Formats: sequence, C-alpha cells, structure tokens
Amino acid sequence: MRFRQVHLDFHTSEAIAHIGTHFTKENFQANLIRGSVDSITVFSKCHHGWAYHPSVANQQHPELKFDLLGAMIEAAHEINVKTPVYLSAGLDEKLARVHPEWLIRNADDRTGWVDGFMKPGYHEFCMNTPYLPILLEQIREVVTRYDADGIFLDIVGVRKCYCQFCVRTLRERGQDPRDEAAVLTLAEEVYANYGNQVKELVHSIKPGLGTHRPYRSWCG
Ligand SMILES: [Zn+2]
Repeated sequence: MRFRQVHLDFHTSEAIAHIGTHFTKENFQANLIRGSVDSITVFSKCHHGWAYHPSVANQQHPELKFDLLGAMIEAAHEINVKTPVYLSAGLDEKLARVHPEWLIRNADDRTGWVDGFMKPGYHEFCMNTPYLPILLEQIREVVTRYDADGIFLDIVGVRKCYCQFCVRTLRERGQDPRDEAAVLTLAEEVYANYGNQVKELVHSIKPGLGTHRPYRSWCG
C-alpha cells in the first residue's frame, strides 16, 4: 500500500438522491492533488449493498446514473493515484431484508450488529450460507471489469454463528450446537474457507493482486 492512502468511506442508502451528480474528473483530480493523495479506496459496494457501477452480479444504486467507480478509477490513474476497490463483504442491507435466513445468529436467534429489524442498523451475513457465492460473483465482476489496485473486503472475520446453516453443519458432523468449542471451530473453518475462496478467485483473474484482511480486510 502506498503511503498517503485515503479510505473514501461511502455508504449511501437508496433514500439518498442524486448520487455523484456533481462528480467531475477535474474536480476529483484537483482534490487528490491538493491532498497529496497517492492511493484512494473507491467503492464497488457499500453496507447498504448497492453497486456504484453497472452490474450483473449486484444492483446499481437506484439514484446513480453513471459508472462512478469507473470514472473514479480513470481519473485517479490518469494522475498516478492507485485505486484499491472496496466491497462490503459482511453487510448488504438490501439483501439482508430478502434473505434474513443467511444472517449470523447468536444462540438466542438474534441477528448481529443490531438484534432484529425494528432497530436502525446493519445486519451481518454468515459466510456458511448461499450468500458466499453471491459475494464471490460480485468480487469476480469487479476484478474482471475494473483496473483495481487491490480489493478491500470489509466486515469479515471469525464469528460464532447459530444460523440454521451452521446448526445443520454441526449436526451433520455429529456435533452439538450447544457445544461452544465446536461452534468456534466451525466459525474458524467458515472464515478460512471464505478467505481461501476469495484469494483463489482474485488471483485466478489477476495474480498477485492484494486483498485486505479482517475486520477491515484487505486483498492488496
Ligand atoms: Zn451461520
């Protein structure tokens, strides 16, 4: 990673209108130069789950009318600024409301980050569910279509989980989901599997590309 790295945190819900309408290449470049920035994380996917570019693997933010990710990468590269690309891995709020059964659950069946859907906040996904292949396709799309200088995958790590996918996995192994040590061992396996699959995928397309690691997690 370069020295003057800026993390452009960019999480905008579907309720926010006019995303990026004032963006211009000239203005973006001028501000990067003014800040002596030589690397900036730009966004493929935010905690709300939206893509900031045309997407088949995901859905573009409904209030975004152009390829913001592509425009930012082009602007930055033109002035020799690197662009790691960010995807919210553990949080995807638009999908959480469609597939709550894919979310991490504690032993009381409550969701993580906020314990239900009646409170404001995000809900964290379990990587031992059908969410993982969806996320992998989103990563594949970005690494294939864009000149990313790294992939930043956020909100992932070893998480004890009692979702019905994890409970089933434990029972199929003849283990008891009430055995905390077994739950922790599975959590470590699930995270290792996620990491290995991401690494294999990214490097099969772009050998050597970095990936950031947890909690703020980096492939770079
Ligand atoms: Zn789980």
